Amino acid sequence: MEPALSVPLNQVATWLREAASVVATTGAGISAESGVPTFRGADGLWRTFSAADLATPGAFARQPGLVWEWYRWRRAIISRAQPNEGHRVLARWATSLRRFSLVTQNVDGLHQRAGSPEVLELHGNIWRTRCAAGCGHVVDDSRSEAGIAATDEDQQVPVCRCGARMRPDVVWFGEALDPAVVNRAMALAERCDVLLVIGTSALVYPAAALPDVASRHGARVVEVNVDETPLSPFADAVLRGPSGTVLRELESLL
Ligand SMILES: [Zn+2]
Repeated sequence: MEPALSVPLNQVATWLREAASVVATTGAGISAESGVPTFRGADGLWRTFSAADLATPGAFARQPGLVWEWYRWRRAIISRAQPNEGHRVLARWATSLRRFSLVTQNVDGLHQRAGSPEVLELHGNIWRTRCAAGCGHVVDDSRSEAGIAATDEDQQVPVCRCGARMRPDVVWFGEALDPAVVNRAMALAERCDVLLVIGTSALVYPAAALPDVASRHGARVVEVNVDETPLSPFADAVLRGPSGTVLRELESLL
C-alpha cells in the first residue's frame, strides 16, 4: 500500500468529483470542533457520574429522574453549540456532489441544524424522546423542551400517552443498534466510491466496519482527523486537521 500521507488534497478532490456515490461517516471529533464534549471521557463527568453510570438501561430503571437530569444538562450544552464549517460543508455536499450520504455516530443533531437534509443516525438523537415501554410513541424535543411538558411530579420524567416513562431516543451502553439503520449504513458503504471517515477513532462497531466494507467493495477510504487512529494505516488517504479546515479546503478544489 502507498503511504497514505503521500496522497495530496487535490487527488482526493478528484476522487470526490469523479465518484458516482460518496458516503461520509462522522463521529465526536466534528462536534468537538463546535465545543460539544464527547460525554464519554473525563469531559462528560457530571457531578460524580460518568456516561457509563448513566447511559444504561439499568440506570434508567433505577433512577430515571437522575438520568433525565443528565440528559437535560447535555441538551443545554448542545443547544448553545453551533454547527461548524465541517458540518456546513457536508450539508452543501448533499446537493453539490452527485450522490452523497451522511452517516453519523453523533446524537447532537448538529448536522441537521447545519442543513443536512438526510442523516443516518447510528446512535439515535438526543432531541428525540421515545416511550421506554416500546409503544412506539416518539416526541421531537428539538425546538423546545416544552415538547415534553408532561412529566411526573417528583422526578421530572416525561410520561408517555400510554402511561409508561419516556426516555431519550439514543442507544445506551449494553443496547443493540437498530439493525435496519446498521444495514442501511452497510449498504451505503458497499455501494460508494469514496468513504470519508471524519472525526471518529473508527473503533466502535458498526462505524468501525464501514471502512473495511467500503474498501473490500473497491471504494477509496479517506480519513479526516486531527489525530492518528487505528484506521490511519489502512486509509487510502489521510487528511490531518480539524474537519472544518480540511473539508473547506477540499470543497474549494471541487
Ligand atoms: Zn408509550
